[in-house]
Amino acid sequence: MSESVPEPLVTFVTTDYAGITRGRSMASAAYAPGQMKTLGWVPANMSLTPFDLIADPNPWGSSGDLRLLPDDTAHFRFAIEGSATPLEIVMSDIVELDGTPWVCCPRSFLKQALADLEREAGLTMLASFEHEFQMLDVGWPPAPAFALQAQRRADPFGPALMAALRDAGVAPEVFIPEYGKDQFEITLTPADALAAADRAVVLRETVRELSRNRGWHCSFAPKTAVDGVGNGVHIHFSFRDASGAPAMHDAARPGGVSAIAGSFVAGILRHLPALTAFTAPSPISYLRLQPHHWSSSYTWFGDRDREASLRICPVNRVGKTDPAKAFNIEYRPADATACPHLALGVMVRAGLEGIRQKLAAPPLFSGDPASLDDGQRQALGLKRLPQSLAEALETLLADETVRGWFAPVAVETYVGMKRMEMKLAGDRLDDALCRRYAEIY
Ligand code: GLU
Ligand code: MG
Repeated sequence: MSESVPEPLVTFVTTDYAGITRGRSMASAAYAPGQMKTLGWVPANMSLTPFDLIADPNPWGSSGDLRLLPDDTAHFRFAIEGSATPLEIVMSDIVELDGTPWVCCPRSFLKQALADLEREAGLTMLASFEHEFQMLDVGWPPAPAFALQAQRRADPFGPALMAALRDAGVAPEVFIPEYGKDQFEITLTPADALAAADRAVVLRETVRELSRNRGWHCSFAPKTAVDGVGNGVHIHFSFRDASGAPAMHDAARPGGVSAIAGSFVAGILRHLPALTAFTAPSPISYLRLQPHHWSSSYTWFGDRDREASLRICPVNRVGKTDPAKAFNIEYRPADATACPHLALGVMVRAGLEGIRQKLAAPPLFSGDPASLDDGQRQALGLKRLPQSLAEALETLLADETVRGWFAPVAVETYVGMKRMEMKLAGDRLDDALCRRYAEIY
């Protein structure tokens, strides 16, 4: 008898409140775009903590049924060196049995936010998620930060990763040996905002699988050791107007930021302390959001300053780049324990509030907020970000505007899950806890 060959699978995936990509699979051969084929899903899954225990209590219990509805335009199928079958995933929305978006679906949340931005402000968003990650316990000889030898120790990891991401169609841009121990970074070309969040998922899973195939343990956890360098996720964004023209740049304004982008930034800064509950959503995220970590620790708008929470990125004047086209701003207080769709969704919602209220662009700041007194910090809008997940959740619950973007049951689900996660994580923010997170993320 001959052995049967593996039947390749396609997985309908969703990335949930815990920032974990989960899903169900069927035979790839049975999937064809346009079929409207769906797979089952369970509401209480959204109350799953990263530690695999479901929050108790949670609003869902053991009842209810949902479907994973694949978005055929977000279908990825590509080979990863060392894997037996291609990685084939379709980003899916979680819907009710009648096909309407489920109240807790992060991807539907982002879609709705982007649709509102376009309808109300005439803007479409381009985005790109920049990821840092580390290899743990690989036993490599030490190598200096940013060094060529740091990259070559891992060869051909970089080339294999670039090839896989190219084949996935997510347009990898730059591979970097980073500052931290055995740390790397990879950037992607900007894409339509929904696609950018989808691509962040592809990127994470590809790095994980490629590392696993080599017997390496990679981690995107915001800290893998208390005193180590942080792994950030920097979310770059820019706008196009209804005609498709760049809409973020205005050379005549401070920092070159257009009036409408300035309002958007002001909206984000106003709600940023609450947003961190979504973008830096684990207890150890707050080990990273410290001054002098190049990660951001204040509600700070900066021009090319890596301590700022919203940083105007440099425009390269070498070669023939159009500054308006390349101009973008980066949101830095995010990490990979966050769901990319939810993180970008709350940024868009907050920015849109700023546009609705025609907020003025915040003042630009560069320097050390610690060197200022309270009055000076207040004048510059520099508020310290929450210093723990507990504080971030309290801030979120106290921010009526932010709460109002969600159905009450979604807030209950999110906060309930996060509180259970805090309980399971315990009170000690130590290396052991960083390691536990490093095993999950
Ligand atoms: N590792 C830093 C972070 O946690 C970022 C360093 C950089 O600017 O690339 O965000
Ligand atoms: Mg970096």
